[in-house]
Amino acid sequence: MGLDDDSRKYHRQDPPGKIEIATTKPTNTQRDLSLAYSPGVAAPCLDIAEDEDAAYEYTAKGNLVGVVSNGSAVLGLGDIGAQASKPVMEGKGVLFKRFADIDVFDVELDIADVDDFVAATKAMEPTFGGINLEDIKAPECFEIERQLREQMDIPVFHDDQHGTAIISGAALLNAADIVDKDLDELDIVFSGAGASALATARFYVSLGAKKENITMCDSSGIITESRVEDGDVNKYKAEFAKPVDEGSLSDAMEGADVLAGLSVGGIVSQEMVRSMADNPVIFAMANPDPEITYEDAKDARDDTVIMATGRSDYPNQVNNVLGFPFIFRGALDVRATEINEAMKRAAAEALAELARQDVPDAVVKAYGDHPLQFGADYVIPKPLDPRVLFEVAPAVAQAAMTSGAARERLDMNAYREELEA
Ligand code: NAP
Ligand code: MG
Repeated sequence: MGLDDDSRKYHRQDPPGKIEIATTKPTNTQRDLSLAYSPGVAAPCLDIAEDEDAAYEYTAKGNLVGVVSNGSAVLGLGDIGAQASKPVMEGKGVLFKRFADIDVFDVELDIADVDDFVAATKAMEPTFGGINLEDIKAPECFEIERQLREQMDIPVFHDDQHGTAIISGAALLNAADIVDKDLDELDIVFSGAGASALATARFYVSLGAKKENITMCDSSGIITESRVEDGDVNKYKAEFAKPVDEGSLSDAMEGADVLAGLSVGGIVSQEMVRSMADNPVIFAMANPDPEITYEDAKDARDDTVIMATGRSDYPNQVNNVLGFPFIFRGALDVRATEINEAMKRAAAEALAELARQDVPDAVVKAYGDHPLQFGADYVIPKPLDPRVLFEVAPAVAQAAMTSGAARERLDMNAYREELEA
């Protein structure tokens, strides 16, 4: 209860909300105002009319992300609507600013229809350097993102899908290494087949896992070909259908190397963990309560269990804030036209690599002085580690340049120095 009331007070405190607009140029004299607005402002307008890219020189576009939602799948709260989602979207803006100095307009659209949502978002392209889609329910989110990526020349990134995919992907790269298994041999089970699970499964394949080694379960159990034939699952789930007999999550987990939980809390038992292969990897990412608790998973067996959750009070927190601020930082700084697969992989690999480095004392202190050293209980960096910016943003920018998504080329050494300054 304490947290709820404190949060109401925090938000209400004058001025209401968490963000405001600030000006960045002098506005003291009549002359300043004639430069900022009419008549002086006409000159940059005409330059942009001639060459649209000049908007990056003359306006805030290049550092401005639209956080766009219709409030249809907000946190764990469900379809609470556009207006009620505004505190979350303002909060997303706070994180963009705090972690990567990116400005955000939060845009809450009271639109449920996919085509109308796409049209409204597409029409805002002149305003933004990138679009972070947020808290839009599955399966509509897949179609909305697909159409917008196709139609827009700026990055469009649905964080609930790809953020989770990238950060847990980084954890998977390191976990596989620690238990000495190859990605292409991992038998991977997903609990959940919604927005985050489907995107995460696709991304694991992009990192080297084999699609045929992935078994997806939704609330009715394993997604099988016969369920597809019965018209029981949507086309996005059908992509992962298996030619096996119908079964439950616990059937699927027998002998599995990895469990990726993106479903609901408390549905995995110690018995199910015991049925998995040697040294299992368990990412129980349902929030706020994981599919199985850290203690129960660890205590279920005597060999190594690599466990991650969405929680800050246990090791290996899969927190999207490790991704989106820095991915957009790198993408914006090369004026990227998209955030493509190569850029996402680069982000995951940079996070994985950073977890192998020694952790600075200041970061260790910020996390209660527990030793942080690469291993089962430290496979991904901590969210408050300042080095994440210096590693992930350049990796994403470099991948954008290499993959042809960058409109601007950067000198990487100079860029790193600039970020660290
Ligand atoms: P979603 O689109 O609503 O998907 C939820 C999925 O869970 C659905 O496929 C649903 O099955 C399935 N499910 C529900 N009850 C189940 C059960 N008893 N057994 C197996 N599957 C069950 O939600 P989402 O956005 O992907 O999020 C899913 C969960 O992951 C949430 O708890 C969310 O908080 C968490 N999450 C965590 C992170 C993180 O840690 N960073 C990031 C994203 C999401 P049906 O399809 O049959 O309804
Ligand atoms: Mg979200």
